[in-house]
Amino acid sequence: MKIETEGVSVHYRATRALNAIDIAAHPGEVLGLIGPNGSGKSTLVKAIAGIAAATGRVLFGGEPRRPEVLGYMPQDIGARTALTVLEVVLLGRLGRLGLRVDQRDLAAVGATLEELGLSRLASRFIGELSGGQRQLVYLAQALAAEPPVLLLDEPVSALDIRHQLEVLEIIGRLTRERGLTTIAILHDLNATARHADRVALLKSGDLIGHGRPADILTAPLIARAFEVEAAVSTGADGHPIITPLRALGRKAA
Ligand code: ADP
Ligand code: MG
Repeated sequence: MKIETEGVSVHYRATRALNAIDIAAHPGEVLGLIGPNGSGKSTLVKAIAGIAAATGRVLFGGEPRRPEVLGYMPQDIGARTALTVLEVVLLGRLGRLGLRVDQRDLAAVGATLEELGLSRLASRFIGELSGGQRQLVYLAQALAAEPPVLLLDEPVSALDIRHQLEVLEIIGRLTRERGLTTIAILHDLNATARHADRVALLKSGDLIGHGRPADILTAPLIARAFEVEAAVSTGADGHPIITPLRALGRKAA
């Protein structure tokens, strides 16, 4: 299901968080959403999810109607609930649960837990997990709904490098296998280069780049967006490799 935003703007009282954003995300592809802190990434994902009041249009498969099931993983994940891992992931199927949980729901949740290596944590309380484990549980919750669309706000920010790689590979594989349309907010530019099929780059609420990783992850655009001088080369596999060199616009002490 293709997702398109047309002139999407969001205001928070005096703050203009997004200025007329036009992006497109395609089935079977991961769109990596990048940009500095406060550039509007979370706001854009919330506008697409329908949980931030926006002007402009968001189209799903060409229609303004949101699909009934959306996989959304928020950036700020609370841990105050006294729920087990199994229960949290099962809640991801809430839209599909009738008055009782049936075998199909439990099987889908079990398969998702297995996929993310969470099976042995199933009966643990969510509040007793590490931040990284909790992040995996909420990713499992988003996947358990078997949504056509995955909106992931920093899905790997709390994970160690092995888990980052594993989870990005899982996200990519499920996106391709199930034809999901995935939008993932990422911070690591090298991970973005390897795992995103397309990239959208935000700066102060403006879209300043949208296209293939090699066309967006360039030294001039990185300098403009992040105010960082970076060396960009091409790896053996054709992906750009980004080495941040120094912060621009500030004298060294
Ligand atoms: P990012 O995810 O790229 O770090 P956000 O989308 O969270 O950025 O925020 C974009 C801008 O909107 C920031 O200036 C932020 O301070 C502001 N903002 C975000 N959420 C709110 C809110 N609920 N109320 C007021 N301002 C907000
Ligand atoms: Mg954010």
